[in-house]
Amino acid sequence: MRIRQRYRMRTPSTGREIVVEAEPDQIYLDRETGEELEVVGSLLPLAPTPSELPWTVENLRFCSWCDQLTQKDLNDCPVCGRRMEPLRS
Ligand SMILES: [Zn+2]
Repeated sequence: MRIRQRYRMRTPSTGREIVVEAEPDQIYLDRETGEELEVVGSLLPLAPTPSELPWTVENLRFCSWCDQLTQKDLNDCPVCGRRMEPLRS
């Protein structure tokens, strides 16, 4: 099974960041403003984690330590291994 690379992308005018499954040589546009999205960084491959949540934007948050995206239901960041702050509801 091939896992597509995921990228964090930012809309320049708003600073809003989204996660996109993207091909490296494609250009992606913001759905609302039509701007070209800037690539902020790539995400690590989906290594096996204890989380069952799919990697959709709604289920992700940024680790407060390393600023990488992880699934919301994890207590420990799978990237840096540190305990993340509890989620505010
Ligand atoms: Zn982390």
